[in-house]
Amino acid sequence: EAKNSGNTDFLYFEKSMTAAAMRSMQIQQALREALDLGHFSLMFQPKFRGGDNELTGVEALLRLNHPQLGILAPADFIPIAERTGQIVAIGYWVVRQSCRQIRQWEAAGLIAPKVAVNLSARQLLQTDLVETMLDIVRTEQVSCSHLMFEITETVAMQDASKTSEIIHGFQDLGFDMAIDDFGTGYSSLAYLQRFRAKQLKIDRFFTNGLDTHSKEGSAIVSAIIALAHALEMEVVAEGVETTSQLDKLQALHCDQVQGFLLGKPIAPEAIGALLQERVSIPEKIECAEE
Ligand code: C2E
Ligand code: MG
Ligand code: MG
Ligand code: MG
Repeated sequence: EAKNSGNTDFLYFEKSMTAAAMRSMQIQQALREALDLGHFSLMFQPKFRGGDNELTGVEALLRLNHPQLGILAPADFIPIAERTGQIVAIGYWVVRQSCRQIRQWEAAGLIAPKVAVNLSARQLLQTDLVETMLDIVRTEQVSCSHLMFEITETVAMQDASKTSEIIHGFQDLGFDMAIDDFGTGYSSLAYLQRFRAKQLKIDRFFTNGLDTHSKEGSAIVSAIIALAHALEMEVVAEGVETTSQLDKLQALHCDQVQGFLLGKPIAPEAIGALLQERVSIPEKIECAEE
């Protein structure tokens, strides 16, 4: 009987490998035509100032609309696009599309939020990354100050000296920079200081730790916030899901918060509605006075 169950396990394993391999092949195929067929889209997740609910910006989060598999999250396709190098062209599309979205919000009479775009390791290897990004925003007639780029701590530290150059290159042009998912990698504090990035984003693992390991969790988040402030960086807590996390972050003077509690990644029209709410209040007061 033991032998039989062993066989079953083996068969099951083999079947699931085939399914995974097939899915991977489907995604690879989809990636090859996604740019041409317009299968990518962007969702936007708001960032808020701690204390009040002031919107400080949005983060662009990429989705692949697969004809058979449905809407895929970055975890499903970015690793593949990284391996094949397609992420470079996709990354330029993300920035172009973000610029067009900014222009669309403005065309609707809204004050467009600053858009944060994620960069991956392969993109940082492009020697013309900074000038190509500049070309794109100029062509789209958007100011550099309307965009920022996020680089994860792990990727940033892979070649810290090169990352430092890229960050300074972007910031000299007026783009803001953020170190993303901070705390999960191994940072050289000397480099963190040299980067002079505008924002430090605390990985959601630590935000979660405010609830699960209350005392130690608060101590760690408090230390990260102190470090960021000592280096004159703004701190953003990622992955805020509970009011108790939000309360603790506010008590610890975290500058900005982002997470499902305050706002999930949403379609550009929904961000438009959010912006509309903000501008409609003073307009209504003006009307009432007339
Ligand atoms: P990230 O830049 O750290 O983005 C935050 C991720 O956490 C997003 O997942 C977001 O939906 C999710 N998130 C936000 N708030 C919460 C929360 O309260 N709880 C939980 N559990 N999750 C939350 P998403 O959209 O699946 O993106 C995953 C990662 O993929 C991003 O992590 C980023 O590194 C990468 N990514 C997304 N878009 C792009 C892109 O255009 N280019 C590149 N190179 N990478 C991208
Ligand atoms: Mg990010
Ligand atoms: Mg992050
Ligand atoms: Mg992440």
